[in-house]
Amino acid sequence: MTLSGIFIDDNDDEAVYAEQMTTRGELKIVHERPRSLTVHSNDIFSRKPDLLALDYRLDEDLGDLDDNEAYKAGAMAQQLRDLAIDAPEGDFPIVLVSSEDKIRDQYEPDKTSHDLFDALYVKSEVNDDKDPVRRELISLCNGYILLKSQLGNFDLVTLTGLEGDDADLLDYQELTLPMSNAAAPHIAAGLLLNQLIHRSGPLIGINEACARFGVDLNHDERISALLVQRSADYRGIFSTGWPRFWSHLVDDLADEVFGKRATGFTAAERAEKLSATLDEPFEAASSTWTKKPDELIAFACACCGEGTEMRHSAGVFESSLPSFSKRRRVCWRCIHDDRYLEIRPSITMDDSDEDLVNAVKAMEFPG
Ligand SMILES: [Zn+2]
Repeated sequence: MTLSGIFIDDNDDEAVYAEQMTTRGELKIVHERPRSLTVHSNDIFSRKPDLLALDYRLDEDLGDLDDNEAYKAGAMAQQLRDLAIDAPEGDFPIVLVSSEDKIRDQYEPDKTSHDLFDALYVKSEVNDDKDPVRRELISLCNGYILLKSQLGNFDLVTLTGLEGDDADLLDYQELTLPMSNAAAPHIAAGLLLNQLIHRSGPLIGINEACARFGVDLNHDERISALLVQRSADYRGIFSTGWPRFWSHLVDDLADEVFGKRATGFTAAERAEKLSATLDEPFEAASSTWTKKPDELIAFACACCGEGTEMRHSAGVFESSLPSFSKRRRVCWRCIHDDRYLEIRPSITMDDSDEDLVNAVKAMEFPG
């Protein structure tokens, strides 16, 4: 059965994004103009879509609406989230799809609406990167369907596909307690996405995995295949939209190959060892700052995603970091070039590294 979605935008010229987000045979998205807020919200909820996508500003071309009926995406999302608390069986994912400048200048400062959306897409990204965006949207729909099948008893172990000895891997009270208290699928989905999928902790992305093996990101598909072969890939909820790997299984493989804690070797040493073990060539990750492969590459930069070493990076401020995840860091190159100011969702560097950040900005780039 084809999943159904609705895209609301007050600009008819932008209706084309409904088609851009549609995956033939899997998810059909139709465009609608905003109508009177409560009437439209109730109508959408009663139609039980699998997904709702909202442009941020729904008040620029009011059409038949009066000036005092103007509203933005957050207001509609809030009404729908409230309806879902009372009737969680009708819950569905809500994503924001808007232009870069509106997200930066208007949505970002409006912190009250941030928890309302499952994902955030810049329209140019929907255009240029259709396939991953479409996969994520379908993954959100299917994730919510799975969550709705567990109403009243969201079970982290079955949702994430943990089995046997690993069943207690996510047994952290800060995760299990809010999951068991979640009143609706969107609350459980928010927890899983924000605490687990979008952080490096028990799960990591391919960039982080490449950094742990000390290899260049151009080997991402090969490393990914290797980890899948080892059953180290995450197969639980939202995994089709956001491919992840179990961190402990990645480390097990690294231990096997390198014999001891992998990040104690330079990237060049690890790449050489991996190449010998697998009998195929791997190029070492080079420091984004020195451009040399003789650094202790240990993690992926939170900005560019490339392998980065502790001594040429600075910490990101994390307002609520779960005990089971790692604080993000940004490489000196991204700081020097102000790239870290451009990423979305935005990040703020940690105050304790303020002097370092200012010093790096003033440095001559050595690479
Ligand atoms: Zn970087």
